[in-house]
Amino acid sequence: MTAPCRMILDVDTGIDDAMAIFYALHRPGIVLEAVTTVFGNIDVPAATRNTLQILELAGRADIPVASGAAHALTRPFVRGAAHIHGENGLGEVTLPEPSARPLDEHAADLIIRMVRAHPGALTLCPVGPLTNIALALARAPDIAQKLRGIVVMGGTLFHPGIPGIPSPMADANFWNDPEAARIVLRSGAPLTLVGMDVTMRALLTPAMTEAIAQAGDAAATMMRIARFYVDAYLRQYPSIAGCGLHDPLAVAVAEDASLVTAEPMQVDIELAGELTRGQMVADRRATGTTRPNAAVCTGVDVPRFTERFMAAMRGEGR
Ligand code: CA
Repeated sequence: MTAPCRMILDVDTGIDDAMAIFYALHRPGIVLEAVTTVFGNIDVPAATRNTLQILELAGRADIPVASGAAHALTRPFVRGAAHIHGENGLGEVTLPEPSARPLDEHAADLIIRMVRAHPGALTLCPVGPLTNIALALARAPDIAQKLRGIVVMGGTLFHPGIPGIPSPMADANFWNDPEAARIVLRSGAPLTLVGMDVTMRALLTPAMTEAIAQAGDAAATMMRIARFYVDAYLRQYPSIAGCGLHDPLAVAVAEDASLVTAEPMQVDIELAGELTRGQMVADRRATGTTRPNAAVCTGVDVPRFTERFMAAMRGEGR
């Protein structure tokens, strides 16, 4: 048996972030050491509140939470995802006010402190804009080599990007802070990119939400939240069967890379293009001069991930 994945999960909670937290808590191969929060799907105070509420829903208010960046490195925060995640970020489902409080420590400081305290042991799994990770790497470049890895939800090479932005080939996380994404991709840390090429194949359908909801009160509440997200996808993409399980798949890959196929690539983020700001560009030329800096996921074992996701959402993972 391999050692468990000791994870710091960085979230902009957000409905698929909420499911990613559930997934991490219910997998025997993951030890969730801390959760850090960032702006993105919603403002950072709401992302932090939502994160605390989801941890309490799962009975794990003991897990430390640190709040982080309120806006991108070079731009103000612009709210844009209410139609996907709801005004409150959790599909308009109102959860009890959390009893736990976030730590009195910035997310980037928590990351630096924990990674230095446990060299070689921790995996960072950012599933929001990469601002907290970039701040941590800028302040403490040494942590790049002290991480077991960074498994990022972000990027796309082939799948169309998110609707409603000028860049047709950008995902939400890289689009929301391209400069931060560039800092992370250039950091030298061992990187895996779980982008829309794979996350848009791993879908949550209405029938799956109904099956999961039978498993108990927490699962039923999680699926009431998820249903808002599923319905938003069904409206936005008329030919799709459900919503993309972006953030849960990234967490799943952090635990078990055998769920995906990945290709080492030299990748960077476009910052200046009128049509390409926030787009991940891969240099795949066979010139002998490229140096891969990330494993980019290109294929996913959908049946195996789906089975694991269903069990985790039902609380059957442990
Ligand atoms: Ca997210």
